[in-house]
Amino acid sequence: MINLLGLNKQQLSQWVVEQGEKPFRAQQLLRWIHQFGADQFDGMTDIAKSFRAKLATTAHIAPPALMTELASVDGTYKWLLDVGALNGIETVFIPEDDRGTLCISSQVGCALECTFCSTGRQGFNRNLSTAEIIGQLWWANQRLSQEQARIGGVELAAQQDRRIVTNVVMMGMGEPLANYDNVVAALRLMLDDHAYGLSRRRVTLSTSGLVPAMDRLREDCPVALAVSLHASNDTLRDEIVPINKKYPLRELMAACQRYLEKAPRDFVTFEYVMLDGVNDAVRHADEIIALTRNVPCKFNLIPFNPFPNSGYNRSSSDNIRRFKQRLMDAGLIVTVRKTRGDDIDAACGQLAGQVQDKTKRQERRVVEIKPYENS
Ligand code: SAH
Ligand code: SF4
Repeated sequence: MINLLGLNKQQLSQWVVEQGEKPFRAQQLLRWIHQFGADQFDGMTDIAKSFRAKLATTAHIAPPALMTELASVDGTYKWLLDVGALNGIETVFIPEDDRGTLCISSQVGCALECTFCSTGRQGFNRNLSTAEIIGQLWWANQRLSQEQARIGGVELAAQQDRRIVTNVVMMGMGEPLANYDNVVAALRLMLDDHAYGLSRRRVTLSTSGLVPAMDRLREDCPVALAVSLHASNDTLRDEIVPINKKYPLRELMAACQRYLEKAPRDFVTFEYVMLDGVNDAVRHADEIIALTRNVPCKFNLIPFNPFPNSGYNRSSSDNIRRFKQRLMDAGLIVTVRKTRGDDIDAACGQLAGQVQDKTKRQERRVVEIKPYENS
């Protein structure tokens, strides 16, 4: 059985033709699956009955199963999806006045070991398939439209655009560029007018800085880019974002500049987690100003979200304010990320899911962790 959920237009056209059908059937299938949320073939009324019967024996539409749903008092949702072998991944929906943002996972765990990240601490199990990545958007639209129907009445929901998610950020569990092919295939479905029809500006990929893959993405599917900077010099970044040893800051800044030649927005967003006593001093702000001088950018400061035994503390609001002001005085545009879904542990860096660690990192961590004292 082939899972049609993970096939993009080109792959679906090819498959449909192999079944002896006209290629335009692929567009119809895409619409049914992604716009109307179909997971059965019976209701696909504009597709011939004979083909529907054949589809039912050769293919299926199989999103990952929903294990848990948590709803925050602030309207944020967190879903845990079953991706088999006791693994679960998390997806978060954050409603705001003018948009609805879905935060999507790309891997079960993460291999990159950033020291302040709960996903990184859990080790790595495997890459998600394209179906499992796009399945998160599929589920969110299903659940949110059901919820809308419950609140607003069935007719109202039917009249409204069913696509409630207006923005996607690849900022959940995992490093999206370390699962390049499956992530790009999923991005293409997000952008496809017959599927989710999101504009490239409304889809953001966040990376810890895999430079060669950033260059590939610029050519293959340049969506908006966020880069996890988190440190102002190589010594500190080597320690807290270890991939920096492979792709140091100078190379990362150059890659950002190259990316902007094709990007849908004229700036890169730098994410910067605020860790008390680690990276939040005024001298760090000054280093950042010098470092990013030639890269059009905006800064998003993320107050550290604690998790058990992290060894870190969140910077004080005074420190965050001072840091922000210093950057702004140098002409940078800076926002401080609001923590949403606090009551359901849905904030950045708290997505833990259920990771059966293949790297056995948790065991190694016992000797590796350097506790940061809060002096
Ligand atoms: N792997 C990608 C995307 C996922 S993480 C990346 O690293 O960019 C999304 C953002 O949350 C990243 O900027 C990440 O560094 C940040 N983050 C991780 N742990 C955090 C924590 N405990 N508190 C606040 N932000 C965190
Ligand atoms: Fe992986 Fe991103 Fe967490 Fe680093 S911050 S460990 S790259 S998920």
